[in-house]
Amino acid sequence: MMAEQSYTGKTIVVTGGGSGIGKETCLQMAKLGGKLIIMDVDEASAAAVQQQIIEQGGQAQSIIVDISNTQAVKDALQPILAQTSIDVLVNNAGIAHIGNIENTAEEDLDRIYQVNVKGVYNMLAAIIPAMKEQKSGVILNLASIASSVGISDRFAYSMSKGAVLTMTYSVARDYIDYGIRCNCISPGRVHTPFVDNFLAKNYPDKQAEMFEKLSKSQPIGRMAEVAEIAALICYLCSEQAAFITGSNFPIDGGFVTLNN
Ligand code: NAD
Repeated sequence: MMAEQSYTGKTIVVTGGGSGIGKETCLQMAKLGGKLIIMDVDEASAAAVQQQIIEQGGQAQSIIVDISNTQAVKDALQPILAQTSIDVLVNNAGIAHIGNIENTAEEDLDRIYQVNVKGVYNMLAAIIPAMKEQKSGVILNLASIASSVGISDRFAYSMSKGAVLTMTYSVARDYIDYGIRCNCISPGRVHTPFVDNFLAKNYPDKQAEMFEKLSKSQPIGRMAEVAEIAALICYLCSEQAAFITGSNFPIDGGFVTLNN
């Protein structure tokens, strides 16, 4: 019989754990017994998630770090790795940019690369040697529908999420013999603060109308809830998914396959 999903005794690092999908993932994994290490550049939101988990009887600590800074990531993780093993890494932190090739400046491309690609590289490079030594570990990367299909005005973002997908395959291949699993998920539009802030900034007079329009771009007729995304992440990082590696899971309300 399949064991119950549990993170008891597991140490879990979630980048961007202060908001949206990352926050909900931290909350769900903490409820399942995991010890959360929330890595985020935003001090206040990371501290708030840490406090919420502790108030609910869970275990969490937060680390303020910009994942695009290679040395800062190493310095932040070194004392943790000296004390404990890291069992699960969720590479969730990411930023967006709207624009085609003509209105994507070099600085925009570099900024997206630094966080969404180099940030993932930095985390993998800092944690994989320890996972290799302990001969176990699970890595889950946040890709996107933009990893696999053309989304309008997402030139730089698509570049970065394509890289997340292929880094996932590469790591899964290279470390399969060391007991390390590596997968990614590709969400469609998820209702997070990112979406609300985007609409408030760009469509202050017709936020509701635009929310509806964005919802309808998923054939299922709505955006995903963060809880739905976090539930898939929890499953894929758990022992229940021990047979799954090198895979990309769409979670997109039919966006990639049914939009015809
Ligand atoms: P969000 O904006 O709500 O949260 C992102 C978190 O990452 C924030 O707490 C932010 O402070 C942190 N962060 C940003 N840059 C960082 C850096 N350099 N170092 C450390 N932390 C940093 O985002 P979200 O909507 O929950 O998205 C999470 C992930 O899911 C991203 O990788 C995103 O590309 C991906 N995704 C989101 C959607 C969606 O519709 N929301 C769809 C597909 C994929």
